[in-house]
Amino acid sequence: MNRINFARCSGVIVDICKGHGSWFDHEELTRIVEFIRAGGLDAARAKEKAAIEEERRQLRHEQLSVDGSLSSLLDIRAADDHHTTGVTTGIASARALLKLLLD
Ligand SMILES: [Zn+2]
Repeated sequence: MNRINFARCSGVIVDICKGHGSWFDHEELTRIVEFIRAGGLDAARAKEKAAIEEERRQLRHEQLSVDGSLSSLLDIRAADDHHTTGVTTGIASARALLKLLLD
């Protein structure tokens, strides 16, 4: 079971189990629906996009300032890939939940 901040910025912490689904505590589902109705998903997407762009910019900056050894470049790339994967998963789970709510 994983506790995630729905859409990363809603402030609603939901429990998600890969095998069994999503759990909502009292009022959480209502708060998520309100968040979505207020345009929260678009705002979350814009924020994530900005964060990825900022990270890429930072990465480029770090790559310029590292000592040029291959291993540090590989470490930085690996860390960036991991984070990007996490962001994608966040959007995917928000989308799956939205589909569940609207179907
Ligand atoms: Zn489970």
